[in-house]
Amino acid sequence: MFVLEPKHVHMNLRAKDKATALQCLVNILVEDQLTTAEYLTGLQDREAQGATYLGQGIAIPHGTPQSREFIKQTGIRLAHFPEGVGWDGEHKIYLAVVIAAKSDEHLQVLQILTRALNHDVSVQVQTATTAEQIIDILQVRPDTLVIHENLIQTQTHVEDIDDFFWAAAKLLKQQKLVEAGFLSQLDPKNLIQIQDAIWTISGKNYVAEAAVSIVQAEQVLNFAQGQIQTLICIAQHEQLDMVQLNHLIDLLFQSNIQQQLQSEQSRHEIAKLIGAEIIPDWPYQPVVLANKHGLHARPATQLVNISKTFKGDIQVAVDGGPYVSAKSLTKLLALGCQYGQTLTFIAEPNTDAVEGLTAIVQAVKNGLGEEVEPLDQSETASIVQAETAWEEIIDTDLPAQGTAASSGLAFGPAHVIKPKKFQYERFGRNLKAEKEKLEIALYSVKNTIHQLILKTEIDEIKQIFQAHLEMLDDPDLIQQVHQGLNQNLTAAAAWHDYIEQAAQTQAALNDPLLAERAADLRDIGDKVLSVLCDEVMPLEPEQAYILVMHDLGPGDVARLDKDRVAGILTAVGGASAHSAIVARALGIPAVVGAGEQILKIETQTTVLINGDTGAIDIDPAAEQIEQAIREREQQKQRRQQAERHCQEAAMTVDQHQVEIAANIGKILDTAKAVDHGAEAIGLLRTELVFMAHRQAPNEITQEKEYRHVLDTLAGRPLVVRTLDVGGDKPLPYLPIATEENPFLGLRGIRLTLRKPQLLRQQLIALVKAADGRPLRIMFPMVGRIEEWRAARHILDEVLAEYPCENLQVGIMIEVPSAALLAPLLAKEVDFFSIGTNDLTQYTLAIDRGHPVLSAEADGLHPSILLLIDQAVRAAHAHQKWVGVCGELAADPKAVPVLLGLGVDELSMSSSSIPLVKAQIRTLNYADCQQLAQRALQCESATAVRDLVELTHG
Ligand code: PEP
Ligand code: MG
Repeated sequence: MFVLEPKHVHMNLRAKDKATALQCLVNILVEDQLTTAEYLTGLQDREAQGATYLGQGIAIPHGTPQSREFIKQTGIRLAHFPEGVGWDGEHKIYLAVVIAAKSDEHLQVLQILTRALNHDVSVQVQTATTAEQIIDILQVRPDTLVIHENLIQTQTHVEDIDDFFWAAAKLLKQQKLVEAGFLSQLDPKNLIQIQDAIWTISGKNYVAEAAVSIVQAEQVLNFAQGQIQTLICIAQHEQLDMVQLNHLIDLLFQSNIQQQLQSEQSRHEIAKLIGAEIIPDWPYQPVVLANKHGLHARPATQLVNISKTFKGDIQVAVDGGPYVSAKSLTKLLALGCQYGQTLTFIAEPNTDAVEGLTAIVQAVKNGLGEEVEPLDQSETASIVQAETAWEEIIDTDLPAQGTAASSGLAFGPAHVIKPKKFQYERFGRNLKAEKEKLEIALYSVKNTIHQLILKTEIDEIKQIFQAHLEMLDDPDLIQQVHQGLNQNLTAAAAWHDYIEQAAQTQAALNDPLLAERAADLRDIGDKVLSVLCDEVMPLEPEQAYILVMHDLGPGDVARLDKDRVAGILTAVGGASAHSAIVARALGIPAVVGAGEQILKIETQTTVLINGDTGAIDIDPAAEQIEQAIREREQQKQRRQQAERHCQEAAMTVDQHQVEIAANIGKILDTAKAVDHGAEAIGLLRTELVFMAHRQAPNEITQEKEYRHVLDTLAGRPLVVRTLDVGGDKPLPYLPIATEENPFLGLRGIRLTLRKPQLLRQQLIALVKAADGRPLRIMFPMVGRIEEWRAARHILDEVLAEYPCENLQVGIMIEVPSAALLAPLLAKEVDFFSIGTNDLTQYTLAIDRGHPVLSAEADGLHPSILLLIDQAVRAAHAHQKWVGVCGELAADPKAVPVLLGLGVDELSMSSSSIPLVKAQIRTLNYADCQQLAQRALQCESATAVRDLVELTHG
């Protein structure tokens, strides 16, 4: 931020002419290390193009774009010439504000200057004797009160008085009438009641221009001093002409005005009521400014010149702000429009100006005499394109192979969902019309959802749609979108902005539960946006189909009608991607990460996928389909058979037993795990338990939840992982500073060791819930022995106070350093649980959620098997047990290898348990051991998979 300081002002200079003055200015810039001496030619060339006289005895000399290379640092200097210097053949200047600007930071100073030009300051500038006086003159603020329609917001959702203050200050700040800090001085103690639920508050600090904003809440709110529905927020300063303000206050005291203010009114009506400036309902055209350095003096001059060629009035506003004449240079500069902001031009009806709008907008697009910088269309264009991110489809053959993600064979006509493209204008003109559009769109989408609810027979799907209806009726959502509308956005822009922002916040939590909500939000978001943008959504085929998509969120999968969606084929994603995990849980066959080319498959073409091998057949022969039907029938029978025996042990033919446990993230899923044959909970992801709460659950709540799991387990062991937040799993109520590499940052034990109180509380809740039942506590993300010892020390302190029988304490092995140090760690811990998802990510240095690479992050890579082997041998040498709780534990190709490596426990999602148990019953432990030794010698994950295929086919 630029601040004018007295040290930047050079007083009492003399120059016989403009050339000498320019030289003098460059000398100042060079001396202050802002430019090199060559900048002089830039100043001269610019003056040759047109004098930089601004008005009121002030000029703003600055270089041409070509001379920017001579700028070392952006800066502004002021030179006072009391005797004056002839500048443009007509006017003398007494003050030169010389600008060396690399970017647009100086626009702010120009804004301040142009405000000063609303006053007659030339004599004061000429006769000033000190630098401080010059600064004071320039920083003089207009004495009129700004009050216009855009400073009024109705139907605002507020929950307390702070929300009122925040909304009122935000309106003022958006229009640059107050600066950051204004809000902090608003104190409820200073509220003054005008009448009933109408109150005023005022602030004198951080005020750029005196102004009034009005916030009307959607309902009356109780607060300490009484009731409030309308807040009138006054930003004032000493130079304000109080007559205008007093007039407004008098007006507010009139009972008829009060009555109307307390009834539901549009902001347009309120504006009329209190005599605020009203946005004229003129023809308009928006355009985004693509000049890298903003609307500074030169392009603004061009804009003025073009606008002046039309007789009719032309006004312009920036991003929903107040309208000013496009024919006034100072007014344009005062807008401070920056690159990427939207200028909306309006033209006086029935004049040549209406026709002129197109020419003006075109001139702005062309850069007003400057080079333009391409704009990020999706974010800033007046015509916004909202679309799902995806990579360009490379024109190569359709793929025959993807990553096997969810077991089973599936075929059917392809239903290809391509990324959606929506086009809409960002700024609207008619608030009422935009509100109506939104209402109609919401009504239409709700109607469609009602019909879907009537059609579907599956309860879970009904519930999902029911939840969508609730989301669409959520008063908070509607309120937030209305706030966007009140800021002049179109219904589509306001809707998309809110949905995207809300979905991003949810998705960032990376919790499957909340991510589901993000996907749901985007889903209903797209539905409403399609209506607003007249886009037709593709119709679902009648018969069971293969859903082909770029990627699928867990929410997408969860709401799939299993009777309609035979299988899933995606362009990106890996076996440990969320969509794959949910597809497995639902038992829908899936092949993921097949490449963007799959989006070229023609809708209705028959596709056959094999969720066990990753094979894809496009338009297969009839015999292949028949074969697939036979195989599928066999698979179905195998599953049914496996389910019948799921409560039996997983014992190999040569009597080697492996414990089979379940991974859960929801307390209530314990019962389902037991039903599916889980012999223990092998991983309770407590961060997911935490995420289900809006704020950190206290010790009592935690104890209650852990107790529920242990009760349901009825004597079976419970392996609990302490909080594994941080990195990609932030907890909203546990803020962590933004990190460049969150996976390598404050995560798991690294975080909780820095918040020992949080860890201690969780440990107390756990040991108190145990009551002598088999509790195993493990710490996540341990990479160094010191971390393990520090965590163990905290637990020991807890145990000294709350003794706990039948407790084992272990660590997750998911960082390669922990696997390598296993011989040392094994002496101290009771068990290891290998988290192959993270161990694979950190060993192969592939982000587990990477949209393209994650398919290559195969846990059967020999490097990971070597680490598992090392950990198992180290543990067994000290009679400790080892589990695997990553996704690998349920991979049919990995099961014999893990068994052969000597893993004692496999923990997986509940639905995988019956088949894995059945598979183990067919294996021979001695063979598995041999297989594992050969796998350790392989050179790649593919080689390991081929080996398993060959020996265990
Ligand atoms: C793992 O990393 O394998 C693991 C089980 O932990 P999470 O997937 O929760 O990170
Ligand atoms: Mg992990």
